[in-house]
Amino acid sequence: MIYASLSTLRAALAAKKISSVELARLFLDRIARMNARINAFITVDEEKTLAAATEADARLAAGNASPLTGIPLAQKDIFCAQGWRTTCASRMLENFIAPYDATVVTKLEREAGMVSLGKTNMDEFAMGSSNETSYFGAVKNPWDEARVPGGSSGGSAAAVAAGLTPVATGTDTGGSIRQPAALCGLTGVKPTYGIVSRYGMIAFASSLDQGGVIGRTAEDCALVLSAMAGFDEKDSTSLERPAEDYSRLMDAPFAGLTIGLPKEFFSEGCDAEVMTAVQAALAEYQKLGAKTVEVTLPNMRLSVPAYYVIAPAEASSNLSRFDGVRYGYRAPEYANLTEMYEKSRAQGFGAEVKRRILIGTYVLSHGYYDAYYLQAQRARRLIANDFAEAFKRCDVLLGPTSPGTAFALGEKRADPVEMYLSDIYTIAVNLAGLPALSLPCGFDAKGLPIGLQLIGNYFDEARVLAIAHVFQRATDWHTRHPACNL
Ligand code: GLN
Repeated sequence: MIYASLSTLRAALAAKKISSVELARLFLDRIARMNARINAFITVDEEKTLAAATEADARLAAGNASPLTGIPLAQKDIFCAQGWRTTCASRMLENFIAPYDATVVTKLEREAGMVSLGKTNMDEFAMGSSNETSYFGAVKNPWDEARVPGGSSGGSAAAVAAGLTPVATGTDTGGSIRQPAALCGLTGVKPTYGIVSRYGMIAFASSLDQGGVIGRTAEDCALVLSAMAGFDEKDSTSLERPAEDYSRLMDAPFAGLTIGLPKEFFSEGCDAEVMTAVQAALAEYQKLGAKTVEVTLPNMRLSVPAYYVIAPAEASSNLSRFDGVRYGYRAPEYANLTEMYEKSRAQGFGAEVKRRILIGTYVLSHGYYDAYYLQAQRARRLIANDFAEAFKRCDVLLGPTSPGTAFALGEKRADPVEMYLSDIYTIAVNLAGLPALSLPCGFDAKGLPIGLQLIGNYFDEARVLAIAHVFQRATDWHTRHPACNL
């Protein structure tokens, strides 16, 4: 049951082989035994979880269950869930109890009937690629506990990899679903910008942030995405489109597929073992009948610099709401209002968050706006145009997700630029707003998982998931688990 697919869990629940309460207990037990080591969860609340599972059992018995009713999940601690502590891994929100549900929570838990096992650890305000900026401490990669799980959705990825939950939510601003999925041997999907509501998802960089799923397979991710996506009038950037079944193309024939290989994904900068695994995956697709074409994204080299202007600019504005007045951390001592703001923010935010606020405030300031922010927006447009050109010649783009496998805890902490480059293959996708996923495609000599990235055109997530599914039908990388069982 620990590593069972969602459809297996669904069948077991429907056949009454197991109840939702029993299933929740099974995972809560594992969390109780393993979380001290992995640190994947910030908050667990057995009472709330079991109450939700009891409700799910009643729904299953009454015959009005959805395909996901009674199945456990973990929520990244960036999603507000009513009555749950919601911290965004920051001291600023250490004791914040959310008074309302994010739309993602409403849809997955209240409507679909999934059962939350708790809130997962992450980089503070989703800023990071290693989960080391969390106020609640780093998360350990279940494949090697001396290494990072990736970030910022590192707790979600580690929880799924360690068998502490069948599936978890994540958010991806510059790679935070795909990169931890890659580093933990999982499948993670970031949909087209605007598909998943951002209402109640604590904002980092609003024009880039997008919710998604981390699971073991494309099939599992498609099921959950179908339940969490959809138009939401509470999010002004939510796209008004009919609901979709993202599993619908899973068994469609694979003939005639053209895979685009961006030259920039296959040049220097990528670890040799990662490249070998990506090439092997490509060969597998060719064996399955896919054609390939070389394409180019000439402006991709601008993506990391443009992102590190735009994302901090938006973050500096979004995070100005944390001022110690209405909610969040307030410094215990201060002489006047200005000092209260200063001390609350100085004590409540960690170093990486402060670095982003400083950069963001600088690039938006009157004298520098044109030189940095405007330039970055121009670069963003060029990058989006590159993708549009590429998609004239192919159906999907393929490349590595991350230039390397999981790195050691502490290895990149001292050098922010080195850390920022972990997202060199993922960031351009966010700037363009495209859907993309990462799926496991092999291991390096140390036994660490390697991720393959597939990028689709706008609204093509069903097809991208199906393309991943075809690979997972032909290979077994996604069936390997770390040997971290207790
Ligand atoms: N690693 C990137 C950053 O630090 C992306 C994070 C994310 O996608 N949330 O900003």
